[in-house]
Formats: sequence, structure tokens, C-alpha cells
Amino acid sequence: MLTLVWFKRDLRLADHQALWLASQAGAVLPVYVIEPDYWLLPDTSQRQWQFLQQALELLHLQLRALGQGLVLRVGRVTEVFDELLATYPISAVMSHQEIGGLWTYQRDKAVAAWCRSQQLPWHEYPQSAVFRPLKNRDDWFAKADLWLKSPCWPTPTALPHVVETPETLQQSWPTLCFHPDDPGPCAGHQQARHLQQYLDSFFAQRASQYRSGISKASTARRSCSRLSPYLAYGMLSIRALLQTTYRQMKTSPEPWLSHNLSAFFSRLRWHCHFMQKLEDQVEIEQQCMHPLYEGMRQSDPTLLRAWALGQTGYPYIDACMRSLRQTGWLHFRGRAMLVAFACYHLWLDWRDVAKHLARCFIDFEPGIHYPQVQMQAGTTGINPYRMYNPVLQSQQKDPDGQFIRRYVPELAKVPTSYLHTPWLLNPSQQVDYNVMLGRDYPEPVVDAKLAASQARQRLKEWQQQQSPQWQQLKQQVMHRHASRKRPVTIRRKAVAKQQLALFETDDVI
Ligand SMILES: Cc1cc2nc3c(=O)[nH]c(=O)nc-3n(C[C@H](O)[C@H](O)[C@H](O)COP(=O)(O)OP(=O)(O)OC[C@H]3O[C@@H](n4cnc5c(N)ncnc54)[C@H](O)[C@@H]3O)c2cc1C
Repeated sequence: MLTLVWFKRDLRLADHQALWLASQAGAVLPVYVIEPDYWLLPDTSQRQWQFLQQALELLHLQLRALGQGLVLRVGRVTEVFDELLATYPISAVMSHQEIGGLWTYQRDKAVAAWCRSQQLPWHEYPQSAVFRPLKNRDDWFAKADLWLKSPCWPTPTALPHVVETPETLQQSWPTLCFHPDDPGPCAGHQQARHLQQYLDSFFAQRASQYRSGISKASTARRSCSRLSPYLAYGMLSIRALLQTTYRQMKTSPEPWLSHNLSAFFSRLRWHCHFMQKLEDQVEIEQQCMHPLYEGMRQSDPTLLRAWALGQTGYPYIDACMRSLRQTGWLHFRGRAMLVAFACYHLWLDWRDVAKHLARCFIDFEPGIHYPQVQMQAGTTGINPYRMYNPVLQSQQKDPDGQFIRRYVPELAKVPTSYLHTPWLLNPSQQVDYNVMLGRDYPEPVVDAKLAASQARQRLKEWQQQQSPQWQQLKQQVMHRHASRKRPVTIRRKAVAKQQLALFETDDVI
């Protein structure tokens, strides 16, 4: 008898519970199903597919080295499983618990129904500190800690040969269709096969600049780990990474390195904290977390297009968007600022914003992405509104304009004193600096100061209109999704302080 190990977003051999347990029970049929309908979704894209192909190719090579290559199929999972069940003596299906959006959730329900109809057991195992089901968030931290500290699963050393597979998967790729607004492939950027280089260079050198470098456009690419795509496709186990980080933190003779690694360590925990939100409420892919924000914004298609193409007339915003379109990656602060500018200044609906960004990200991870977008768009009801001043951000995060000049070459000759505010150039300066506003580079699509003050007014009025039920629903969101790390009283004070800060710090218009 055979165990079918269904690979999804867990493309690795190490710390893979399903693969290990299946290999201990006997022969294994490792299967990956390419689902063309999935690739038509508005949050999937060619660049993700490109990365996934490389990851699958690597997995195939590793599996072949153990004795049994990856069995690749194209189509609906239940139909593929039907065909496999007719051909092989399959006694069980094993996989990880996928924390996906509505589409994969429905697909998994269909697969569960199919397994029941075939009387075939399907065993699913967690691959991060995300729990299914979780009664409430009260003890999430303790549970997560326990899970993340638990030993990793061993890697099988051999798999019995079951079926012939080609040497490489290159001839097996189907032609897929993508969303009409696909941002296109990212040739020459982050590759799946570079995982070890990213890991080694981060722990050996780059981590030392983590805290100071992750928020600035010009340093973030180097200072951040850039491990997100490997985590998103499960090429890297979050538990193994956390444990490595912890060991390095504790054994490093340099206190400053431990300090940097501890910041990185916290973010790895956030990974699970955010994913738990989508696991607990998959509808937040499409619905506002706090339901009374529903209907507050409608996207203006012209503004949406300008934002999505990096043509807003705000150089730092445009540089962030264009670098993301070109490379498939952007640092956290850049992502947060793009969402905030889109949802506050341009008053775009967060769903349009989320889908566009997801298509641009190679590391698209639904469980982090949707809760993060909602948090930055201010629709959770439990996080303070964070509006970034696009000019101030530009001056602080790219003071010498290196990043802007690279990604907005129309402004390459503009001196730094005008680079963050090119609309202040008079016509003769525009001639001198080789940029005609409105022709070579857009005039600002909105007046940022005015737009921010309008957004604030709209938010205030909206909240007032809905007030009777507001607090009650907010409590429900808190109960379901908020972190319980700190005692509630301290957290309340901190939130109140942050909310105050919204109208006081110079980081906000
Ligand atoms: C609007 C928005 C959308 C986002 N969408 C995604 C997404 O689709 N996929 C994704 O992996 N990350 C997403 N993030 C979180 C974060 O920006 C990225 O994880 C990070 O920039 C990836 O780069 P890195 O691996 O070098 O990060 P590092 O700083 O090196 O962090 C290491 C890992 O920790 C986790 N992590 C780091 N920051 C966060 C965070 N704020 N929240 C949750 N987990 C975090 C990620 O798994 C990341 O790979 C989003 C953030 C925002 C504001």
C-alpha cells in the first residue's frame, strides 16, 4: 500500500511531518497538482508561478535523490486523485494544513468530501504555529511557543521507488493563463535555488544591520533576510528557522548581533500570529475585519491605475511601486506606506489594493497579506490609523534620492533639494533638469495634505454614523484576532497613546 503525500505550500524535505510519517509507514507517492483555475485568481501571477516552478524542480531533484521523484499532474485535485487512485494502491492522503484564501479553502473542502466518498483517510499536519481550530486567542502565545520549540521532524533518508519520473520537470509545465493585470515575470531576480545563499549571507553578515537597515529603501534589500518567498512556498520550515535564529542569538559573542537577531526573531513569530487570523476567519480575504467599515470606500479607477503603475507624482511612492513591479519584493515599511497612501490619500478600496500588491509579490502569503493590508488600510477596528506623509517618508527613508533616481529615471537629473517635491520646480528648472511635469513625469494626482485631512474627516464621520454598534463589534474583533502578548491594561494604554500619536507625530500629515 502507498501513502499519497500531497505537496502544496510545503516544498521541502526537512521538518515535513507528512513526508516523514508517510515514509515510516511504507512507500510514498509524492504528488504536486498544478491547478490552472488557481492561476486565474486575481491575487496570483506569473512571477509567483515562475518561482514555484523553480521550487518544484528543486524538490523533484531532492526527492529523486531519495529514490522517488515528484509526480506532477495538471487539473482539478479531485479529478487527479481519482486518476491516481485508479492506478495505484493508495491507502491514505497526507499533507500539511494549508492556510490559504477562500479558493483553496473551498478546494480543500472538496478534497475532504472526495476522500470521505472514497473512504480514504486524509491526515493534515500544521507547518507553523497556527492552530486549527483555535478556541480563542488567550493562550495562543503559549501554544505557539511550545510548538515552535518542539523538535523538527527528521528528513527521510530513502524512499522506495514506485513510479518512473522524468529527470527534470522542464517538459512538464502547462501553459497557464493569468489575470489581465498581471505585472509580468521578474527575470533575473530572486531565485528559488538561492535559498542557501540568502540564509548564509544573512546569518554571517547581513543580520548585523537588521534593525538599522530594514526600513530604509536603499538598505532594506540587504538588511532584510529576504527569506519571505522561501517561507511562503514552504521551502524553509519556520520552526527550523526560528530555532536556528534562537541558537545564534544565544551563542553570539556580540551583544549587538543578538540585539539584531532578536528583532528578526520577533518578526518570525509575527508570521504565525498574522497567519492565525486568516485561519480563524478566511472571509477577511474579502470582508472588512470590522464589518462597519464595509462600504466606506469605492475605488476611483484612474487613481487606482496611477497608483498601480507608479505614476502618482509622488516620487518615493512611485519608486517603491516600480521597484516592487520590477523585482517582486519590497520591504515592510514600503508595503505599509503603499497601502496607506492608496487607502487614505487616494481613498481606494483595500480589496483592489490587496489584489494588485499580491500579484506583484513573489512572496505572496495570503495569511500575512490580507490581515496586513486591512491593518494598514484601517479596517480592522483594533489598530490605529497609520497615515504616512509621502514627502516626509521620502526625505527620511531616501535622503540622498538614490532609490528614487534608480526607479524613477525621469527624475534622475533633478537635484536632491527638489527630488522629493518635483512639483515645486518652475518651468525653466524643468527644462534645466530635463523633466517636463505632466509630460515626462506626472503632476501629483492629489494634494497629499488636503487628501489626508479629508481622509481624517471621513473616518471620523463614518465612525460617528455607525457609533451604536461600533464598540461591541470592535470587542468581538479584539477577542478573535488581537495579540494577547502584553497584559490588556498596558495594551489599552499603548493603543490610546498610539491613537493620540496619529494626530501628533510628524510622520503623519
Ligand atoms: C501590506 C503588507 C502586505 C504584506 N504581504 C506579505 C506577503 O504577502 N507575504 C509575506 O511574506 N509578507 C508580507 N508582508 C510582511 C512583510 O512586509 C514581509 O514579510 C517582509 O517584508 C518580507 O521580507 P523579508 O523576508 O526580508 O523580511 P524579514 O524582515 O527578514 O522577516 C523575516 C520573515 O518574518 C516574517 N515577517 C516579517 N515582517 C512581518 C510582518 N510585518 N508581518 C508578518 N510576518 C512578518 C516574514 O515571514 C518574513 O519573511 C506584508 C506586509 C504589509 C505591510
